[in-house]
Parts: sequence; structure tokens; C-alpha cells
Amino acid sequence: MNKPASVPEQFDAVVVGAGFSGLYMLYRLRQLGLSVKVFDSAGDVGGTWYWNRYPGARCDVPTTDYTFSFDPELEKEWTWSEKYATQPEILEYLRFVADRHELRSDIEFSTAVTAARWDEPAKQWVITTGGGREVRCRHYIMATGCLSVAKSPDIEGAERFAGPVYFTSRWPHEGVDFTGQRVAVIGTGSSGIQSIPLIARQASQLTVFQRTANFSIPAHNGPAPAETLRQLDEGRDAYRDAARWSRGGVPVEPTDVLAGAASEEVRRERFEAAWQQGELFGILNIFADQGVNPAANDIVAEMIREKIRATVNDPETAEALCPRGHYFGTKRPCLDTGYFETFNLPHVRLVDLRKEPIVSITEDGIETAGESFGFDAIVYATGFDAMTGALVGADVTGRDGLTLKDKWVAGPSTYLGLMTTGFPNFFMLTGPGSPSVLSNMAVSIEQHVDWVAGCLKDLRDEGLETIEPTELAEAGWNQHNQDCAAITLHPTANSWYMGANVPGKPRVFLPYIGGVGAYRQACDDVVTQDYLGFTRTGPGAVRCTDGVIRSMQPDVAMVMEFVNALGLPAMETLSAAEARALMAATAEDRPPGPEVGEVTDGVIPGPDGDLPYRLYRPAGPPEGPRPVVVYFHGGGWVLGNLDSDDPLCRDLCARSGAVVVSVNYRHAPEVRFPAAALDAFAAVQWADANAIELGGIPGQLAVAGWSAGANVAAVACQLARDAGGPRITGQLLICPAVDSDLTRPSYEENGDGYILTTALMRWFWDHYADPADRGDPRAAPLRGDLAGLPPACIVAADFDPLRDEGVAYARALEAAAVPVRLTRARGHTHTSVTMVDVVISGAPVRAEMAAALGNFFPAAEPRAHVS
Ligand code: NAP
Repeated sequence: MNKPASVPEQFDAVVVGAGFSGLYMLYRLRQLGLSVKVFDSAGDVGGTWYWNRYPGARCDVPTTDYTFSFDPELEKEWTWSEKYATQPEILEYLRFVADRHELRSDIEFSTAVTAARWDEPAKQWVITTGGGREVRCRHYIMATGCLSVAKSPDIEGAERFAGPVYFTSRWPHEGVDFTGQRVAVIGTGSSGIQSIPLIARQASQLTVFQRTANFSIPAHNGPAPAETLRQLDEGRDAYRDAARWSRGGVPVEPTDVLAGAASEEVRRERFEAAWQQGELFGILNIFADQGVNPAANDIVAEMIREKIRATVNDPETAEALCPRGHYFGTKRPCLDTGYFETFNLPHVRLVDLRKEPIVSITEDGIETAGESFGFDAIVYATGFDAMTGALVGADVTGRDGLTLKDKWVAGPSTYLGLMTTGFPNFFMLTGPGSPSVLSNMAVSIEQHVDWVAGCLKDLRDEGLETIEPTELAEAGWNQHNQDCAAITLHPTANSWYMGANVPGKPRVFLPYIGGVGAYRQACDDVVTQDYLGFTRTGPGAVRCTDGVIRSMQPDVAMVMEFVNALGLPAMETLSAAEARALMAATAEDRPPGPEVGEVTDGVIPGPDGDLPYRLYRPAGPPEGPRPVVVYFHGGGWVLGNLDSDDPLCRDLCARSGAVVVSVNYRHAPEVRFPAAALDAFAAVQWADANAIELGGIPGQLAVAGWSAGANVAAVACQLARDAGGPRITGQLLICPAVDSDLTRPSYEENGDGYILTTALMRWFWDHYADPADRGDPRAAPLRGDLAGLPPACIVAADFDPLRDEGVAYARALEAAAVPVRLTRARGHTHTSVTMVDVVISGAPVRAEMAAALGNFFPAAEPRAHVS
């Protein structure tokens, strides 16, 4: 479409796309008084709802939630007719919004943007549209949607079929009449599952080609949920606000019911309630751990499979429709109306491509490994090049000729899913690295648009022209994004979330899975910290506060939030007895840790009476003796006992395949320095002398300890060396206390707020050792002679006050020619690595610890596997 001559070819902003996000972006930019042009290749507004007109296309988030909230009057004027509105109704709604705010005057329809290039000297984007026309703008905003580029049919012979071919994502506007036709549908994702029951109503024969059976639950569509309407009536603003800060963009209270802890009756009750409710965020919230724990997930998955078997008459078809091979929720679950029932119709047939793959599409049908099918029409419901397809396909060239396609060759890299380094003033709405497709898109879109609008306003108000993320901030966000995904089951699936549906696409988890509220907080925090991680420039000005917005592991952050909410008293304000009682109470409900072969308690002779020990023997083969690890618990020489570190000892035992002997040494203030250290040394001597009785291999003896336990383990190594034995083959020191100097930077950086505080460390030292003794190497092993000590593995956690002394001990050992492996517990605190089955991100660190133990015992047998 040609532009009227009076409109300048220069805009403050160009937006691509006139769907939910493009429309709202236009509205907000206009409010700021900016000049805006929106381009869309479609003939009207609507975005995804303009194109996806296949029969049965509906929203699968309740439409009362999947709606704009920025205009309260609009909400009063528009009433959704159903819980899950149809595509025509949603399209009508977007047209209504465009009319109400007279948005069309700034939109050019049927106009594709073919290229965009950053002009550095002019600090502008040069946008090329279909006929080679160029427009210039300061800000370039992609509102192109996450699921807008259809995946091309990657099936042999696809171009040969002579009959009509339809894509669910580009359905003819006039509709299709399949009456009397033999129809093939390829694909059983949301689009296939929604359209199949309706195509079956017309077709004389319908054959569904299924590669992966999908989890789907009945939508139970009907009027808008009465409860939601009531809540909206009572307080629209509060309801919308709750959605904005929720996990998925719909106000759903996250459950704390763990599948393993619930009775069979409770499990079924919760499942049935979710099944009857027919909402995605309900079925994904039956158990708190179904997204992270395979066993919990299996419980839900099996209950869904039971429903499928109970619905589909033919047992073989039912079994083929039962999803297997991916965890429930790791591929986008579907909502359906009569999907599984459709396979009971006599003219509908399922072809399981896992058993009988497609060999080729032919002129008149489809040939599988076992059969030739004749068809009058083929429907492709084969999905999208999701999240990145529209962005890298748009020929975007940033600074120094870098194209987005080249930059993202190994997967997308963004800051907050909003921007990417090298592409100043280039914004993505609901881009990769933002919650987008894992959330109610309407809520995520409004949040992104509001953020971008706020950002452009701030730039203008401060006289700045450009904004671009720093490399550090972007790398930090990518890492955080992957950290969030890594604690879930999601990355295990071949899903479009992982880019796995498009041949050759890099496997990276694309959306942000940390939750809508958490994400919103991160975006807000970036702004309040003076646009942390962005460089902003203007005439004569460069402003940059560099940094990483989220560097703590997400599950550690959740634990910290939980602990802080408990409002526990600071330990250093308590007596030792009170502190011990508090520690025991907080440990009460934690998971027990993995099963091991055998656990036995006993006593060993200490320097001044018996010391209790607990022995953990690994399960399973091989029979016979194992290496022995003598372990010392944490607790600042004051707290802790055999129970406190029991899950960690089980974990170490199961992972390393060694016999672990956890020894309880004498505690301060009742018995002060050097009792704990002397007890530790005595325990090591005893374990060495009794290796055979313990089921150990003589000469294969290591020590391990956490915190103060690592302190006495390190001291025991020094004492053993000085005494000429026993021979210790390695020392695993987890977040060790190795010096009494509390002035290292980590005591300042991490001194407060991460459970172990600098004040508490001081309290521990005061209980344990007189100031005059604190320089003694038996209290501060860093000050000792380090030559000739056993090889070490030292774990140093980022958010630990003791981090720097752990690192210092590693450096000092290295300098003394002792082999050292320094393991960084990235994003962890002093305590989080030891939280077995609570902090999932600690598992890889513990796997490294076990591997280090394995290396101390070169001749040891293969280790048991713990995931
Ligand atoms: P999809 O979920 O990616 O499903 C594509 C289907 O086609 C899958 O079953 C896939 O099998 C199959 N397929 C792909 N290539 C194939 C091939 N070469 N041979 C055989 N089968 C092949 O795509 P979609 O159904 O269009 O849905 C995409 C997303 O759009 C949804 O997950 C949802 O987020 C959104 N959506 C939402 C709604 C709604 O709101 N109601 C409706 C439609 C879509 P594999 O699984 O084996 O790859």
C-alpha cells in the first residue's frame, strides 16, 4: 500500500504486527505522543487470530483472562460469550479494540517488512517493506508473535500431492467444506486436536497421522466460569493484578501438595477436580512437584492415560493415543472437545507413525511403511518455527553488519527476552527468554508493552537516544533462563519449546519458565536499578550500570524467600541450646535423601570418651569392600549431629559408591577448641585401623566435611601428615571454614541474608575458640603448612560468606603443589548445595563432589547412579 505523500517517511517507532501485542504497543506509543507506523502482512488486525481460522480454533486459556486489561471501559463493553471463545469471536474482539481506539489509521495492512538495518551514524533503523520502500525510525519493535511462522512440511514428496492442501495456520478465509471427502490430518498438537473432531463431522473418511501422542484434557467449554466473573465483579483491579503477579498469568494459587506425600485418595480427588475443571493451569497444578519430579509427573500422566483408555473403545487405538516418552507438561498440553471420542467413529482412523512411518506423500495420497492411502485433501497441523522463526526470518541487521540470524545461530540470546546486544533500539515483544508461550499471552504482552513504553519514555525524558543490553547482562539472563529450565523436566522433551520440532534448529529452551510474577519483578528491578545491564546513549552521554539481574539459582532463591518469610530469629541471638532446637525443628519436614544399602549406628573411641558414628553402605553390586569416606557434619562446631547431615551423607554414599562414616565430634561451647579437631583426627585413625571391619578397602580412605565439618576434616589431614599417618587419599571440603579472618570480601558481599551470616560466623568462633587460639592451624588450617597434604576438592558457593576463604585454601594448596579441584557452586549459598531433594540445582554440584571422591580412589569399583 502506498503511503500518502503528507506522511513523513520517518517515525519514532515502527512496529511489525497488528495482533494483541502490536495493537497495544501502538496504543501506548501514541499515548506518549510518539509517531508510530505499524506494518502487517495480513489484511486486517488480529495476528494469530487473523490467520489460524481452522475449524475448532479456540483460545485455551479462559477468555475472561485472555483479554486486555489496560482499558477498564473496554472490559465493561465487551462480554465473552464462552469460557473458551472461538477464533471468530476473538478476531471480532481485536477489531472492536482497533475501532474503539481508532488504531487502524496508523496501520498499513498487506504490507510485509522484508528487511531492517541499523544505521549507526543516524542512530536509526532503516526498514524495507514489500515493494522496496524504505522508512526510517528510531525504535524498531517486533510484535510478530511466537507462533506465526508455519513449519514447512518436512515430509518426503509433500509437493507431489495433486489435491488441495491446507495448513491450520493459514486456513482459507472462506472456509473449507470436506463433505464427502477422504481427508488426512497430519499432526496432533493443539491445532490438530482442536480441528480433528470438526473435520470428522464432514469428511467421509478421516485418517489422522500421529507421530507423538499428546496429552489433552476436555475443555468442558460453556459459559465463562462463574467464579471468575464473581471475582472480576467484586474487584476487577485486584483480579487483574493477581494475574500479573501469578506464575502463569492467571490467578491460580500454586499448590504445595507433593505427589509422594499425598494418599491415593487425595491424588485422585485432586486429579478429578482438575479434569472436571478443564483448565490448563489447573491440570498443571495438581501437585507442586509434577513439573520437576519424574515420579510425581508419572502419577498425573498415568491418570490421564487411564482416562484415554476409558474413552476410546478400541484398545489398540487407545494405547496408541496414550502419550509416552515425554513428561506431562513438557510438550504443550492441549484442551479438546471430543478429541478422543472422535476415534470411536467408524470413519475415523488413527495411523501411529511410530510403528508405521510415512514413506512419502504421493500424487493422490500418503504411503506409509505398511500401507498406501488415497486422499482427496491433506491438512497439515504440523506446527510452527516457534519463538525465533519470525525474528530471524525478518532479515534484521544490527551494528557492524551483524544479522540476527547469524548472532542466534546457536540459539537465541536475549536480555529479558526484550532486547539483544548488537541491535540497539530493537525490541521483541514476548521474545525468547520471556514467559510468553508458557503464560497467558495477554498478560505477558501487556507487561512487555508497558515495559517498552516506559523505557522509551525514560529515554526521551532523559534526553537519550539509544538503548542496548550489555554482554554481561545478556549472558547472565541466558544463564538464568537455562538455570530455570534445568530444574524442571521440560528440557527432556523433544518439544517446540526446545526448538526440537524444526530439523536443524538449535536445542535451547526458548521461553522463560521462572513465572510471570518473578519475571515482572526482574524487569521492574532492572529499571529501578537505573536500567541495570543496559547501555544508554544520547548526545554526549553514555550511561551504563552493568551487572546481572538474577544470578542466584532459582530454586535457591525460592528457598531463601521461604526461609525469610518464616521470620526466624537470628541464630546468633540465641543460646546454643535454642539454636540447636531451632535447627532440628527446621529440618523436620525435609526429604530423607536417597535410599542406600545399609545404615548402621555405632560408637568409636574418641580422645575423651565415645563418639557416635553412622555408617552408610551403598546399595547393590559390587559386593565386597569399598573405599571409605569419613565425613564431618556442619554447624559451626556448635550445631549439627548425625541426623542434621543424614540426607547429604546418603547422597554422597549413593553417588560415590563409597562407604560413608559420619562421625559426631564434640561440640562447643561445652567443649571448645581443639576438641572437635582432635576428635576428627581420632576418627580418621580409627577408620583406617578398622577399614576391613567397616567393609572398606585398606588404604582407600578419604575425608569429607561441610562448613565447620570441612574445617576439622582439613585439620585432620594436616595432623595425619604430621603424625606420619594414617594415609588419607583425598579431602572433600564443602564450603569450608578454614580461616578465622572474617574480613575477606565475601564476608561483606554475602554477610547478611543468605542464612549463614557474618554475625553468625562470629558467634560460632566465639563459642569455639579463644581469640588467642584462632591463629592456630588446628583452628585455621589455612595458616598451617600445606605441603604434602592429600589432593583436595573444594566447593565454594557464590553467595557464601566463606566463599573467599575456600578459594584462598584452594590457591594455597595449589601453591604448595597439592592437586586441587575447585568446584564453584554457581548461584548457591553456604547451605543450599547440601539440601538434597529440595534444591534441585545442587544435584550437579553434588555429582561433581562424588566424581572428585571417585578420583581419590583410582582403583575403586564403578559408582551407583543417582540422578
Ligand atoms: P505443534 O504443537 O507443534 O504440533 C504439531 C504436530 O505435528 C505434532 O503432533 C507433531 O509431532 C506433528 N508433526 C510435525 N511435523 C511432522 C512430520 N514431519 N510428520 C508427522 N508429524 C509431524 O503445533 P500446533 O498444534 O499448531 O500448536 C502449536 C502451539 O500453538 C500449541 O502448542 C499452542 O501453544 C498454540 N496453539 C494454541 C491453540 C489454542 O490456544 N487453543 C490452538 C492451536 C495452537 P511431534 O510432536 O512428534 O513433533
